[in-house]
Amino acid sequence: MKSHALVFLGAPGAGKGTQAHKVAEAFGIPHISTGEILRQAVASGSALGQAAKEKMEAGELVPDEVMCRIVADRIGQADCAKGFILDGFPRTVAQARFLDGLLDQGGQPLQVLNLQVKPELLMKRLRGRRTCPVCGTTYNLELNPPARNSVCDRDGARLIARADDNEEAIRHRLAAYERDTSPLIDYYKRRGVLHSVDGNRDPEAIAQELVRFLRDA
Ligand code: AMP
Repeated sequence: MKSHALVFLGAPGAGKGTQAHKVAEAFGIPHISTGEILRQAVASGSALGQAAKEKMEAGELVPDEVMCRIVADRIGQADCAKGFILDGFPRTVAQARFLDGLLDQGGQPLQVLNLQVKPELLMKRLRGRRTCPVCGTTYNLELNPPARNSVCDRDGARLIARADDNEEAIRHRLAAYERDTSPLIDYYKRRGVLHSVDGNRDPEAIAQELVRFLRDA
């Protein structure tokens, strides 16, 4: 794979984080999750975290200016020179335009991977999602449960649900996706950089398909 900027598109629960993690490992490039950057900022109590907390917990988008600054800083770092993966950015047309500007400056070609998942499955994945606070392993109480109730198979830590994986926040997040993010599918289709895959399948099979596709890209 050439030195690409990769963007994962898809609704909340489509598997962007899981796939981005696998593809990043396969190619040895950084996986940049804007949601994760924000969650760490909230946990540390920084000014960014304090500003973002309320919006995140309500399932609403953090303002474009804030997100664009975070991404510009991160992809300007040396480890991104050989390519990188964005998971959760861009989420609006304004963010996509900003990213175009950054990539034009850096001369890096863009490839957008769109994970298509049935709405029923999205709900199931989000409602049952639990994460290990120690090692970051993700489970699903229904689809991929841990061996022992609510504790991590690897280190025995008690699993936690994300603050925004509750019914009401999930509804807002899906609405924000439909309203603000889904127009990016057409935006990138028109540029000829969109590659859509069936995200309803086993995560390992999807990752293999993506890695094969990117090796030739
Ligand atoms: P995620 O982990 O990608 O599901 O993101 C969790 C939350 O962080 C979202 O529901 C938003 O509140 C916020 N967030 C993450 N990335 C962005 C972005 N690119 N633009 C606006 N808000 C974002």
